Amino acid sequence: MFQRPVSENSGNITLNILDYDCISQVDQGDSVKQYLIKPETKVKLSKWDPNDTGDFKDGKKEGLSQLEKLNGKLDELQELLFAEHKHKVLVVLQAMDTGGKDGTIRGVFKGVNPAGVRVAGFNVPTSEELDHDYLWRIHKEVPGKGEMVIFNRSHYEDVLVVRVHNIVPSDMWKKRFDQINEFERMLAENGTTILKFYLHIDLDEQKERLQARLDDPNKHWKFRLGDLQERKLWPEYMEAYEDVLSKTSTDHAPWYIVPANRKWFRDLVISSVLVDTLEGLKMDYPVSGENLDGVVIE
Ligand code: AMP
Ligand code: MG
Repeated sequence: MFQRPVSENSGNITLNILDYDCISQVDQGDSVKQYLIKPETKVKLSKWDPNDTGDFKDGKKEGLSQLEKLNGKLDELQELLFAEHKHKVLVVLQAMDTGGKDGTIRGVFKGVNPAGVRVAGFNVPTSEELDHDYLWRIHKEVPGKGEMVIFNRSHYEDVLVVRVHNIVPSDMWKKRFDQINEFERMLAENGTTILKFYLHIDLDEQKERLQARLDDPNKHWKFRLGDLQERKLWPEYMEAYEDVLSKTSTDHAPWYIVPANRKWFRDLVISSVLVDTLEGLKMDYPVSGENLDGVVIE
């Protein structure tokens, strides 16, 4: 068992996620719990290290091999989720531009059966969406029984970009924290398991990633000049994220702050949380309603 030093944000948890096969499920959960925001915690993002790689100092190769195991595990659990047709799983991904939402979807969900997993992306609202309350378009996309849905951006944009750009008055967006908590509580009470991940990168990392997009013509489609304007608003966004993380991490829909400068570690943390949470659902394959004893296929 490897131990990691206790960092400022890691409380007293010193377990690791190094070898999934060798540690108990409880340990597995504890190791990633250092990234979990307990309800009512005041979050200061400058205290969270985006370069954190847990116990995997220089351990990308090892990290990737663990990730592969978790990918396989997630595939099995997702099939079980689909077969059992009981639970609903919602994964929310939020990040600054270039934070790695798309990469996470590729890295964490590779191998799962696309038939039971869906990605819902939320862009600038359409005029029809704007004619409704901000949760209208969100509610339409939540998972049904047996389904896993990944939100690439979410209703949290309505207290992030909307706040930073004064798209609605402050007395309106301020009410949304409670509204969102209640909405998520309703989903949870109706069988939805909700996991929310904030992919934490820093300004330097964003610069590198934007530059890489600029340097590669095949990545120009991802680059928008508007991203540079957003980048200037980094402090405002951090403040908005801190409020989100401080006010909307609940027992029924917790936030995780995922160190995301290292893509492989980001994927490892998220995969670990997902696998651990799905295992915690104690799912079972359904038993056939028919008597299959002695059935012979000719
Ligand atoms: P991307 O994820 O890079 O494709 O960009 C999607 C864009 O949609 C981002 O600039 C978001 O800030 C923006 N967006 C998403 N939801 C909202 C919203 N509710 N209000 C305004 N802009 C939004
Ligand atoms: Mg973008």
